[in-house]
Amino acid sequence: MGYCEVGGELLTDAVAIHHRKLRSQLGHDEPSNLLAVCHDHHNLGDDAIHLNVAKALENGWLLASWQTPLEAQALIHGRWWVHLDDAGRYHLPPPTLAEIIDQMRGKEMP
Ligand SMILES: [Zn+2]
Repeated sequence: MGYCEVGGELLTDAVAIHHRKLRSQLGHDEPSNLLAVCHDHHNLGDDAIHLNVAKALENGWLLASWQTPLEAQALIHGRWWVHLDDAGRYHLPPPTLAEIIDQMRGKEMP
């Protein structure tokens, strides 16, 4: 069935399809604008997207009218910052220079 894209827990049949940019803000139905979430994370729990708007904006679960779903990253499963595409896939951002240097140093170590 899949996992709640906000909390990462296993989804049951009760799934909410959330629009990151709301339809009232002309958000579309393409996958980059949609998150499959449990109802607790959507609008029932204390920290739900629609009840804690500041946190949702900070985490890319809600987008401002000037943001575009393909460009705005989202925090997925509480762990990964990704870009969402319109084929329903996640893309990790490219590593920073510091991360590349750390990786190279790690390989040189015995
Ligand atoms: Zn959830």
